[in-house]
Amino acid sequence: MVDGILCFNCKNHMYSNDMEENLNVCKICGQHFKLDINTRIKNIFDTESVKYFDTEMYCNNPLNFPTYSKKIDELRKELKSNSAVVTGYGTINANPVYFAIMDYRFLMGSMGIVEGEKITRVIERATENNEAIVIFTGSGGVRIQEGTIAVYQMSKVATAIKKHNDKGLLFISVITDPTFGGVTASIATLGDIIIAEPNANIGFAGRRVIEQTIRQQLSKEFQTSEFMINHGFIDCIIDRRDLRNSLAYILKFHKNDLNRVDLKYPKMQKYDQNLSYKSSHDKLTPWQKVKAARKLERIRLKDYINMLITGFIELKGDRKFKDDKAFICGIGYLKDLPITIVGTARGRNIKDNIDRNFGSAHPEGYRKALRLMKQAEKFNRPILCFIDTPGAACDVEAEERGQGEAIARCLMEISSIRVPIITIIHGEGGSGGALAISNGDYVYMLENATYSVISPEAGAAIIHRDSKKAEEIAAHLKLTASDILNFGIIDCILPEPTDKEESRNKFIKDMKETIYIKFLELMSYDKSDLINNRHFKIRSIGNIETNRNEGLQQIAAEKIKE
Ligand SMILES: [Zn+2]
Repeated sequence: MVDGILCFNCKNHMYSNDMEENLNVCKICGQHFKLDINTRIKNIFDTESVKYFDTEMYCNNPLNFPTYSKKIDELRKELKSNSAVVTGYGTINANPVYFAIMDYRFLMGSMGIVEGEKITRVIERATENNEAIVIFTGSGGVRIQEGTIAVYQMSKVATAIKKHNDKGLLFISVITDPTFGGVTASIATLGDIIIAEPNANIGFAGRRVIEQTIRQQLSKEFQTSEFMINHGFIDCIIDRRDLRNSLAYILKFHKNDLNRVDLKYPKMQKYDQNLSYKSSHDKLTPWQKVKAARKLERIRLKDYINMLITGFIELKGDRKFKDDKAFICGIGYLKDLPITIVGTARGRNIKDNIDRNFGSAHPEGYRKALRLMKQAEKFNRPILCFIDTPGAACDVEAEERGQGEAIARCLMEISSIRVPIITIIHGEGGSGGALAISNGDYVYMLENATYSVISPEAGAAIIHRDSKKAEEIAAHLKLTASDILNFGIIDCILPEPTDKEESRNKFIKDMKETIYIKFLELMSYDKSDLINNRHFKIRSIGNIETNRNEGLQQIAAEKIKE
């Protein structure tokens, strides 16, 4: 007999030793095979940190289901385990976390009464002790032999998750192959952050059931991790071999204490003065600025993220329909500050631009942005928004999925999100599609960025029935940064760097320092002052006589006096 297995994906042979070393991942093609629970625990948690809970609880046969008791007895003996889930507490690279791991070997990891009870108890323990929880799912669904009581375990765990959530605690869901039915419909999809292993099968109804119902063969990709991430239900797919470090990073990221911040307002003012040109930001005509804002070589969101943020993790999906690539959202550090980043994104080349719909988002993009901004609020994390979009997507699909509703929802919810928001308009600010995520506590705009109700071309076509008059209309639309500053919509104009690397580096360095200090300032205010001021700012637009920042400035002045 030959030692090892044949990878069904790439047809290469792998020796048992290699498989073990590689955590059951094919060395050649990266195919992830199922991993037994003991190896999983050994791989994820620090040695000797793990404590187990409720190990004695075992499944009985509540419905007297034929042959079920016998099957349970056999499995208990064979697997030396009393149920299809192991729960406990441990540390991952010294970061404490409660955990539950489902054991696929035990009746397909199905969730019966004991499994539901054990998972609920460990979530309750995490809630009581104000700690995060990570749950690895791998389950065929609810256990048929335990009937309706087993179905109700879904409500039980979901309710425990709700209470954990309402205390502002972190739940990471790690979906492994396969996760289906009542486990998908309760535990797996409720994580603050949902990670899937590559090529896991994930769904509610099983593939065969669907195929029989619709009498069609489904594609190979259907119900895979990759399918789920494209449809907006998973934040990220992480290779099993990187999982330990990724989990440790995410746990640590959420442990930051943001209450350490002092008011550094005077320092901030100095930075603003350095950055703001008072006299020279009108070197280009409005039409030249329109062109400059659209230039392909301009610094784009991806570049800003690369240059400003360390340890960025992109979080995807609206959890409803799709991951819209016209938005890039995620978490990372601005210097030592954990923040959430949300922004519309254009590409650098044609392919990337097509992928990102040229920065024009569909409703799912706005829903993803709002989801992650609400998540930032839950974890008391400031938000940095980047705007560069010709406008919201304008097509049949956008209308079918409620473009108007998605933008309106952003405007309403973001107005009262209880964490500081800084907005940077760095390219095109295309009307409502830009406005949706524009209402920051402090708004910067680049010297050559534009912000307008409509593109000059479209404006000319509507007003003059002649799109060639775009240049003329551009001047009338008052879309330059200095116009927008005069309207009281933005707070500060940032000078443009030249195309030279040196100039760009200085620009990024100054920007990093500026927004960092601005965040520290905004974080020093009471939450209610912050929100009141945001409401006041929005309320004042259209009345340019009003000094819209009076509220916060007064509070700051008083704080300095103290
Ligand atoms: Zn392979």
